[in-house]
Amino acid sequence: MAGPADTTLLRTPEPGLRPFALYRNVLSVLLLGSLIPLAFLGAGAFIVFGNVIADRTREHLETLVSDHAKTVDLFLGERLAAIRLVAHAHRRDTLTAPGRLALTADRLNETYPGSFIDVGIIGADGSHLAYEGPYPELRARNYRDAEWFRIVLKDGQFISDVFLGFRQDPHFIMAVRQDDPDGTSWILRATVNPEVFGGLVTSGRLGETGDCFLVDRQGRYQTRPADGTPLLSPSGLDPAIPRARVETVTSGGKEYLRTTRPVLSGRWLLVAQQEEREALAPVRRELMKGLLVFAAAALVIVLTAHFATRFLVGRIEKGARRAEELSASFLHASKLASIGEMATGLAHEINNPLAIISSEQTNIADLLGELPVDDRTTEMKDSVARSKRQVERCKTITGKMLQFGRQGIAVVERIDPAAQLAEIVRLMRPQAVVSNIELVLDLAPDLPSLRMDSGELQQVVTNLVNNAMQAMPEGGAIRVIGRCEGPELTIAVEDEGTGIPEELRQKIFEPFFTTKPVHKGTGLGLSVCFGIVTKWGGSIRAENRPQGGARFVVRLPVNQSEGPREGREPTP
Ligand code: ADP
Repeated sequence: MAGPADTTLLRTPEPGLRPFALYRNVLSVLLLGSLIPLAFLGAGAFIVFGNVIADRTREHLETLVSDHAKTVDLFLGERLAAIRLVAHAHRRDTLTAPGRLALTADRLNETYPGSFIDVGIIGADGSHLAYEGPYPELRARNYRDAEWFRIVLKDGQFISDVFLGFRQDPHFIMAVRQDDPDGTSWILRATVNPEVFGGLVTSGRLGETGDCFLVDRQGRYQTRPADGTPLLSPSGLDPAIPRARVETVTSGGKEYLRTTRPVLSGRWLLVAQQEEREALAPVRRELMKGLLVFAAAALVIVLTAHFATRFLVGRIEKGARRAEELSASFLHASKLASIGEMATGLAHEINNPLAIISSEQTNIADLLGELPVDDRTTEMKDSVARSKRQVERCKTITGKMLQFGRQGIAVVERIDPAAQLAEIVRLMRPQAVVSNIELVLDLAPDLPSLRMDSGELQQVVTNLVNNAMQAMPEGGAIRVIGRCEGPELTIAVEDEGTGIPEELRQKIFEPFFTTKPVHKGTGLGLSVCFGIVTKWGGSIRAENRPQGGARFVVRLPVNQSEGPREGREPTP
């Protein structure tokens, strides 16, 4: 229930700084307490999963290259086996018969599409017995001194490295030796199509930056790399150096992931590499997703902490304000109680001599009445009358002091506030008219009845209207308004006067506080109102109207059944 403590008598806590500091501190603790573990967790997951995914990517690269190496070996093995089969299945004379080698070459290239450029039958002395291919001039060549020829004679079969040969064109051959039953040996030789073989090897390239090529034991290109370097050029790789399964190398300012696999029983090295940036792009994508999840989690935490803290601080602030209000209210009440006690004692003390003075004045007036009337007796009678008026004034003040000190005994009765207010206005109107003031009564229909002392209600409203009239020296209108708002009856007295200076709004309910000249105000009117209203469980509030003048609002509970509150210290 709003009382003067709400708006006038009590200072509300300074808004702003203190709650904000509390908000900031609680929020900081909550955020630090949740975000730091989350950051650790996130960083840990980032590192662990990042490494796992990177390892997986490397393993994947390794597996692909390993499979590709097997494919290359299979290509070479199949074609060598095919040549061996042809040599085994035919006699030398058969293959050298006119047209027969051409047919065999066609069959081979049908079975292994485009794999062989040419085929030749070479005798044990190194001369061509038959040749089928695009270079007929080779027919006149003798291979006696060729390295591959010696090896194949000795080992029975051979796949050469890339070499220039008679044509001075880089290529490689595969050859098998066949020993006929008559004891003669001959060799079936075939040149492998470098385009087809190179195509097979480069099909192992990965992504856009991938490369896949073969080098021999001297590190010379056996197939062309992606940059088009010619065959047999040095690659800069030394196959003899043992290397990690997947290594990171820098070339042309870029980082590459490189992995190698031996093929052809280790004579060649299959090299596959890919720019690390491209190879690890999926890793980065996954990590970005993780970062997004982390950011979303952090956002949820920040929002939750913000709202929770705001709610918490709101509650704490409300509690603190309530506690402050209660303690201020209590202080005010006990102050009023002490002042009330003092006022009562003082009023009693003053009342006694006043009674004596009053009776002595009556006595003097009687005695003067017995004396003959002349100037002196008339002057004395006037003097006695004047002093009597001052005694009466003193009695009025002590009467108010006694009232303030709870000397009056309340009579609890059910009263009709509408009738009461109308009666008060009717009684005060003549006085208002003299001051050029219009008293307006504005009552809602069917105002509920109240249980309280009608005299006290009258006193409250009279005091407020009197104050309003005194605040309007120029005249104007005073409205006495009666409304029922929920469980409360609201009586407002609005004036068009000077209003209450803001700095005094907290003081006007204090006993003996007045801004009026000595003979006009006692400073007890509003204290008495406050005491009466709070005694009946209500509240009183003062405010300035935006359009000028003051408004006093009294709220009284409608369902007050138990009468005045016992033990209300401020009750006059
Ligand atoms: P008093 O009327 O004897 O001064 P009150 O307790 O009734 O004592 O009022 C205290 C002070 O409150 C007044 O002196 C005046 O300054 C201020 N006050 C009360 N009512 C009004 C009003 N309607 N307009 C302006 N000021 C008022």
